[in-house]
Parts: sequence; structure tokens; C-alpha cells
Amino acid sequence: MTDPIVCPECGGQRGQLLGPLFLACRFCGGRGQVGGSNEPAERGTAPPPAPPPAWKHKVWTDPYISAALGCRACLGARTVAHVDEESGTLVTAPCGCAGE
Ligand SMILES: [Zn+2]
Ligand SMILES: [Zn+2]
Repeated sequence: MTDPIVCPECGGQRGQLLGPLFLACRFCGGRGQVGGSNEPAERGTAPPPAPPPAWKHKVWTDPYISAALGCRACLGARTVAHVDEESGTLVTAPCGCAGE
């Protein structure tokens, strides 16, 4: 399980202001964060109770999609990234599927 990190594309701004237009960041889908279960960081005062983690999403019940994507945590990249909160740097670690 990875902790959510601030989106590296928009820096947590959730998108870009282009004149009168606000373009939601396509990397994080306008959430400002990526990773973890993509839980909304700020969405009103009553967040939905315990949204299911991404790897429990119903998409994984589709055997074709599951086989195509491989590992649910790293999507086949064999590494997962997260922010080390002490140093504030993005670090990568081997995914559990890569073995010890
Ligand atoms: Zn973003
Ligand atoms: Zn993996």
C-alpha cells in the first residue's frame, strides 16, 4: 500500500488556469494527489465512509483487465513511489510483486 503523494504534474494545484479556463490536471484527474486509493483530500465536510482501495475496485474483477495490467499496486512497473515525509523527496521502492 502506498501513501498518496502530491501530484508531480500540478504540484497539488489540481490543474492549470489558462485565462478564464481551468484545466483539471490530467495526471491526477484534478485531485491534486496520486497514489494510495486516491481518496479526496478535500471534498466537503463529510467525506464518504471508507472508500474502497483502488486494488479493490470492481475493475479488477474483470479478468481481462486484471491480466493486462498485472500487479495491482505497481501496474507492472515493479516499483512503487512515495514521498519520504522527513526528507520531502520522492523515493521508489520495489513493489511486493518484485520479490524480496
Ligand atoms: Zn495533478
Ligand atoms: Zn507490483
